[in-house]
Amino acid sequence: MELILLGPPGAGKGTQSKLLETRYGVAQISTGDMLRAEVKAGTPIGLEAKHIMDAGKLVSDDILIRMIGERIKQPDCAKGFILDGFPRTVPQAEALDKLLHEQAVDLDAVIELKVDEAILVERISGRFTCAKCGEGYHDKFKQPRTPGVCDVCGSTEFTRRPDDKAETVHARLEAYNAQTAPILPYYKARGRLFTVDGMADMDVVEAEIEAILRGLGVEAA
Ligand code: ADP
Ligand code: AMP
Repeated sequence: MELILLGPPGAGKGTQSKLLETRYGVAQISTGDMLRAEVKAGTPIGLEAKHIMDAGKLVSDDILIRMIGERIKQPDCAKGFILDGFPRTVPQAEALDKLLHEQAVDLDAVIELKVDEAILVERISGRFTCAKCGEGYHDKFKQPRTPGVCDVCGSTEFTRRPDDKAETVHARLEAYNAQTAPILPYYKARGRLFTVDGMADMDVVEAEIEAILRGLGVEAA
């Protein structure tokens, strides 16, 4: 299965792609996570990307296209992948078409998660993750079962992303509207675009995505 989850920051792409990764046995590829790992490791890409990410802007197409080109050739992508955060510009979408063609792979679907802007701001500002295993939580919508303890790995350390602060969220939403939303007609014209109400409960969103995939003949592992 080759799937793209598309939507503004906070739409639920990470949440849903992690659920789908487990159910469908494919790799979840988050370019945001990959870039954050480069920043943490202090690599040349990380050093270049850090100030751009902190400002809520998009890192260059060249860097991202190279990163994805290498990533989708890894063995864990043999059964397919879910892209979360890529493509984010029309040139990235065009480059992805080429990469998929080279690997003789067909894109099953592009699923857009649609969420109103006011809700996005609330979601982003309440988001936090386990510092050890990366499990995602929310102050209001998804608290750990035992307060302060990660449900998955039991860690008591959590982090908040520096770009999730209010000043940066505005720039990130602007980048989405100006540079990423134009991808929607690109995929619509190719008959690949499906839209899901991302404001429903997480399990409802998951069920809707699975119904779309089932309709396309893609079954869970
Ligand atoms: P994205 O990867 O698109 O930026 P996330 O998956 O990180 O978005 O979701 C942003 C925040 O909103 C997270 O804290 C997550 O727990 C929460 N969230 C995700 N989906 C929903 C939903 N359907 N309803 C309520 N909160 C949600
Ligand atoms: P995300 O975790 O998807 O919200 O991404 C965090 C940040 O990483 C974005 O605000 C961008 O600065 C950068 N980024 C992630 N994916 C891409 C991409 N495909 N193209 C350009 N920049 C990206």
